[in-house]
Amino acid sequence: MKLREKPLIERLLYQLYRRRSGEVQALHDAATQTPAARLGLLFAATIILPAFLLVLLSLSSVTAEEVAIEAEVENAAATAILHTKMAIESPLQQFENAASHFVRERTTQEKNSISNLTGLSPFLETVFFLDERGAIIAPFKSQRPPGLPEPSQQFSQALLDGHLARQSGDLIAAAHYFSEAVSYATTPADAGDATFADAITKTLQTKSTHAQSPMHDVSRDYAHIRSRSGFKIGDLINLSLGVTALASEPDLGRMILKQMVDDGLSAPWVLDYPQDPSVIRLALLSLEQNPEMPWFHTAKERLDKRSRMFYWSSKLFSDIDAILSAPRRPGHEFTYISRPAKDALWAVYASDTGHTTLFILNRAKLVDTLQTSIQQLNAEAADSDTFVTLDPNDSQYVPIDVEYMTPWLPQIGVHVLPKTNDLLSRKKTRARTLRFTVVAAALTTTLLGALISVSLIKRESEAARAKTDFAANVSHELRSPITQIRVRAEALQLGLYDNDQEKLESYTAIVQQSERLSRLVDNVLDFSVIEKGAKKYSFRPHDLEEVINNAVNACEEMIRTENIRVDIDIPFDIPVVWIDSEAIAQVMINLLSNAVKYGASGEWIGIRVRDQKDTIELTISDHGAGIPEKDLPHVFSRFFRSSDTAVRSKRGTGIGLTIVQYIVEAHAGTIEVDSTIGIGTSFLITFSKENHHSQG
Ligand code: ADP
Repeated sequence: MKLREKPLIERLLYQLYRRRSGEVQALHDAATQTPAARLGLLFAATIILPAFLLVLLSLSSVTAEEVAIEAEVENAAATAILHTKMAIESPLQQFENAASHFVRERTTQEKNSISNLTGLSPFLETVFFLDERGAIIAPFKSQRPPGLPEPSQQFSQALLDGHLARQSGDLIAAAHYFSEAVSYATTPADAGDATFADAITKTLQTKSTHAQSPMHDVSRDYAHIRSRSGFKIGDLINLSLGVTALASEPDLGRMILKQMVDDGLSAPWVLDYPQDPSVIRLALLSLEQNPEMPWFHTAKERLDKRSRMFYWSSKLFSDIDAILSAPRRPGHEFTYISRPAKDALWAVYASDTGHTTLFILNRAKLVDTLQTSIQQLNAEAADSDTFVTLDPNDSQYVPIDVEYMTPWLPQIGVHVLPKTNDLLSRKKTRARTLRFTVVAAALTTTLLGALISVSLIKRESEAARAKTDFAANVSHELRSPITQIRVRAEALQLGLYDNDQEKLESYTAIVQQSERLSRLVDNVLDFSVIEKGAKKYSFRPHDLEEVINNAVNACEEMIRTENIRVDIDIPFDIPVVWIDSEAIAQVMINLLSNAVKYGASGEWIGIRVRDQKDTIELTISDHGAGIPEKDLPHVFSRFFRSSDTAVRSKRGTGIGLTIVQYIVEAHAGTIEVDSTIGIGTSFLITFSKENHHSQG
C-alpha cells in the first residue's frame, strides 16, 4: 500500500518518526503503533475530553452557586422582614383609608362623633381636628393657648378659715367666715367659691329641702364661673344638689345627676380643665347604687372612651406646635411622627381645605404587634438558620439584613440574624464539598472505567495474538516431523542407505517423529474438544504403575535421544485408582515431554507415586533450567509460552499444561508446580482416593 493510501494517523506517525529514525524504520514504527495511537485518540476524545469538560463546567459554576446561596439567604431575610413589616403596614394602610375617608366625610357634613372615631383603627387613641390657623376645633377645645400657666389656686384666708370651721362642726363660725370671704372677693372666681361655700353651710344649717335650697340663688349668679380649683361652680352645685336629693327624693336626685352626665357627655370638653370630666364621673359613680342598667352602662362606656381620648389629648396637645412644624412626607396623604417618650405615633393629615387633622396612634401597641408577629414568624421557622428580632444585641453575629420601620417607627429596626457563626461560608463550604465530591466520584469512575477498558482491551489483544501465535506454532510443529518422516521414508524407498545401521536409524527417526506428530495431533484435537466442553471421560479402576509405564514407553525414543535417565518410584502396594487411563496417559506424556524438552540432556527425570492417607500423590521432577517466578502463575494458561529465549528456541504450542490441568481437574484432583531456576521443576498431582471410588 502506498503511504498516501494509509490511514491519517499512520501518516502522521510516519511524519513524526521519519526525522528521528529514518524512513524505513519510521514506516515500520508507524504501522505497528497505529492501532495503539488510534485507541489513545479514541480514549482522549471519548473519555478524557468529556471528563475534563465536566470538571471545568463544574468548577466554573461553583461561583455561580455561591452567589445563588447568598441570594437565597438574602431573599429569605428580605421575605422575613416583609412579613414582619406587613404586621403593622396593613393595619396602618386600613387606618389611612378609613381616616382619610372619615376626614372627608366630616368636612362635608360637619360631623363630630367620637364613637365613630374609635372604629378607625385599633391603634388610634385620639385625634385633633385643627382649623386653618392651627387651633383645635374638635373633639375637645382649648381655651388657653398651649404653654400659658394655669390660674393660681391661692384661696383667700377667710375662705380657708371657713372650710376649717365647717370641718370642725362650727357652722356658725363657718358661715361668718364665708360671708366675710364674699365681701372681700376681688375676682368672680373668689366670689363664686365663697358664695358656694356659704350656700352649702346654709343648706347644712337649715336642713332645707331641694326646693328651698340656698344653692338655687348661687346657681343663678355663678353657674358658669369656674372656681379657683378649676371646677365649674354650676357643676359643683348640681352634683351637691343631686347627691343630697338622692337621700330624700331619690327620683329627683337621679334625674339631676343623669341630666348632668348627659349634658357633660354632649358638651365639648376643654383640654385645659380636666376637672369637667371628673365631676361627670363623680355624678355617674354616685348613681352606681341606683342603677338604671342600660343607660348607666352606655353612659359609662361613653365616658370611659371619651376620658381615654381626653387623657391622650391633654397629654399630647402641648406637642401640637412641634408636630405641625415638622416636615411633611412628600407625595403622601399622611406624615408620621414617632414620639417614643410619650408612646405616641402622630399621623398628620392635611386636607385640601387647609384643615389639618392630627391622629394619635398608640406606638407601644404597634411595637407589641410587631413583636407578636416576629415571635410567630420565628416559631414557624424554628428550623431556619436565621431569626428575626427587634433587638440586634440578641446575637453577637453580624445581621444578614436590617430594615427600619419607616415611616411609622423609624427608631425600630427589624434585624435578621444568623443563629450560628459564619452561616454563609458554612453553607457555601457544604455546597462546594458536595460538588467536589460528585466531581471526584465521577472522575474516579470514569478513570476506573477507562483503566478497566484498557486492561480488557490489552487482555483481548494478547489473547488474539496468542491465538495467532498458536496457529503459527501448530503449523510449524506439524511441518517439521512430517518433513523428517518424508525425507527418511523417501531415502529408504530409494534404497539410499548402504548399511543396516543407517536404515535402523531412519526407522527409529520415523517412529520418533510419528510419536511426536501423534502427540501433537492428540493435544490439538483434545484441546479443541475440551474447550468445547465435549470431552468424555470413562473412569475405571486402573493400576497407576501400568499407566505410568505405558506413558514412559510412548516417550521412549525421545528420552533415549536426549540420553535421559528416568527414575520411577512406585510402592508395590499402591491401591487401584479410578481414572480415565488414556487421559492420565496424556497427562503423563505431556509432563514427560516437557521435562525432556526443557530439562538438560544427559540428566535425570523422577517419577514418584506416594500413597498418603486420603490422597495419592504423583510427582514428576526434572533437573532443567526451571521456570522464572513471574511465569509460574501463568504456565497453565492456554497458549502460554515463556518469553525466555531458551524456551522459545524449543518448539511448542502452549496448550500442553492447559490440557494437563483440565484432565486433572476432571479427576477431581489438583496440580501444583514448584520450580527453582537452575535446579529444576517439579509438578505435583494429587488425586483424592474417595472421589476415585465414587466416580465411574
Ligand atoms: P509448550 O511446552 O508447548 O510451550 P506447555 O503448556 O506444555 O507448552 O508449557 C507451557 C510453558 O511452561 C512452556 O512454554 C515453558 O515455558 C514452561 N514449562 C513447562 N514445563 C516445564 C519444565 N518442565 N521446565 C521448565 N519450563 C517448563
